[in-house]
Amino acid sequence: MPLDQTPALHAPDLPPAARRGLCTDCGLSRMKNASDCGTACQFIAPDYPAAETRTHGRARGPGDELFFGPYRAMHRARLKAPAPGAQWTGITTRIAERLLESGAVTAVLTMAPDPADKWRPVPVIVTRAEGMAAVRGMRMGTAPLLALLEPARAAGHTRIAVIGIPCQVHALRMIEEKLGLERLYVIGTPCSDNTTTENFHRFLALLDERPESITYLEFRADYRVEIRHDDGRVRTIPFLMLPLSDLPADFFPLTCRSCVDYTNALADITVGYMAGTGEQWLLVRNARGEELLELIRDDVVLEAPSSAGKRAAAVKGFAANTERAAGGLPLRRMPRFLRPLVAWLQPRIGPRGLEFARARLEMKAVETVLHLRRAHPRRLKRMVPAHVWKLVAPYGITPREGETPTNPSA
Ligand SMILES: Cc1cc2nc3c(=O)[nH]c(=O)nc-3n(C[C@H](O)[C@H](O)[C@H](O)COP(=O)(O)OP(=O)(O)OC[C@H]3O[C@@H](n4cnc5c(N)ncnc54)[C@H](O)[C@@H]3O)c2cc1C
Ligand code: SF4
Ligand code: SF4
Repeated sequence: MPLDQTPALHAPDLPPAARRGLCTDCGLSRMKNASDCGTACQFIAPDYPAAETRTHGRARGPGDELFFGPYRAMHRARLKAPAPGAQWTGITTRIAERLLESGAVTAVLTMAPDPADKWRPVPVIVTRAEGMAAVRGMRMGTAPLLALLEPARAAGHTRIAVIGIPCQVHALRMIEEKLGLERLYVIGTPCSDNTTTENFHRFLALLDERPESITYLEFRADYRVEIRHDDGRVRTIPFLMLPLSDLPADFFPLTCRSCVDYTNALADITVGYMAGTGEQWLLVRNARGEELLELIRDDVVLEAPSSAGKRAAAVKGFAANTERAAGGLPLRRMPRFLRPLVAWLQPRIGPRGLEFARARLEMKAVETVLHLRRAHPRRLKRMVPAHVWKLVAPYGITPREGETPTNPSA
C-alpha cells in the first residue's frame, strides 16, 4: 500500500517474545536479530559512556549531567494550549505531530491504549499527525515497541521517530546503525516505578471503590498523586497517605527496581516533569533534539528550571527504608498520626525543582544497588555503571568486592 494511503494509526501483529531473564520485552527479542539482546540490553552490560558518545558526541560530564545525562539545554516548559488527554501538556505528542506534519518522518512508533483496557500499552505505528491524539497520556506496563521497526521498514518507512522509555531507547540505540534508516528521531520520557498493567489495576482498586472510573494518574513533583475520574472529579493524595502497605512486596518487577537510566540519557530530547515544579521538564541532548524543540518553538513556553531545599536527609531516609524493606516496598515506618503533618510540610520544605529531580535520581540509584545486591549480586559489576556508584557514594554505598564496574569505559 502506498505510504499516503495507510491508516493514521495501526497496531501490527507482532511475533512472540523469546524468554529472557531480566527483560521488559522492549521488542528486540521478537525481531530477526533477536540475538542482539546480548549486546543491546540495558540489563546485561550497558556501556553508557560509549553509547552517550556515539549518540551525543560526548559522555556525560560532572555536575547535573552526572544525574541527568548529557544535555545542551534544560527547560521548564509547557504547551501554550495544553492538548486534551495528554499526561502533562502534551509536548511529547506535539513534537511527533510536527514531525509528521512537516514530512521530516513518515512514521512514529509509540504506544496506544488497548481498546479493551485503557491502562495497557499497545505498540502502534502512527503515519499521520491526526493519529497522535489517540496515543496521548500514560499507560502502565511495557510492550514491545522495537518490534514495530520491522513492519515499519517493510512498509517503506525510512524516516522514523520513536517515542520510548529508557529501557527501550537503550536497546534501540544499540541496534540503530544496523537499521539502515535514513533518519531516526528519539523522543524519550523518563521512567521509574513501572509495573505490569495487572499490578497497576490492583493499585487502582485500593484507591477507589470504582477503579474503572479513574482516567488519569500521576505522581507529581509536589509529593502528591493526582487522580482524575470520568465524572470530572480530581483528587490529590500525598505520597505518604497512599495505601502502599496493602501491595505485595514484588509489586514493582526487579527490572524496574534495578534499571539504571531514569532520565532516558540516550534520547535526542527527554520530556519529563521532575524538575518542572508543576510544569514539564525538557532536556535537549544533541543537535537532533534542538531540531525537535525548534519544531514546536511557537507552541511552547520555556523558562529556566529552579531549585530549592536540600535532598540529603530525604535520600538518606529512603536508603535506610529500602535496606530495611529487604527487597520489598520501602515503606516509611512513620507513625500514622504524623503522616498528615509531614505530608503538608514536604512540598513546602522538601527538595523542589532540580533538587527534587536530583533526589529522585539518587533514590533510584540506591534502589538499583540494594535490590541487585539481594537478588543478583553477580550482575552488579556489569550492570551498574560508574556514574550510578558516584550518585550513591554520599550515602555510604560503595562497590564491595566483585562489584566494581568491569566495563572498560564505565
Ligand atoms: C511508566 C512511566 C513512568 C514515568 N515516570 C516518570 C517519572 O518518574 N518522572 C518523569 O519526569 N516522567 C515520568 N514519566 C513520563 C511522564 O509521565 C510523561 O509521559 C511525560 O512527562 C510526557 O508528558 P506529555 O504530556 O508530553 O506526554 P503526552 O503528549 O501525553 O505523550 C505521552 C507519550 O508517552 C507514551 N507512553 C505512554 N505510556 C507508555 C508506556 N507505558 N510505555 C512507553 N510509552 C508510553 C504515549 O504513547 C505517548 O506517546 C513516566 C512515563 C511512564 C510511561
Ligand atoms: S533487549 Fe529488550 S527484549 Fe532483549 S532481553 Fe533486553 S529488554 Fe528483553
Ligand atoms: S522503570 Fe526502567 S526498566 Fe522499568 S519500564 Fe521504566 S525504564 Fe524500563
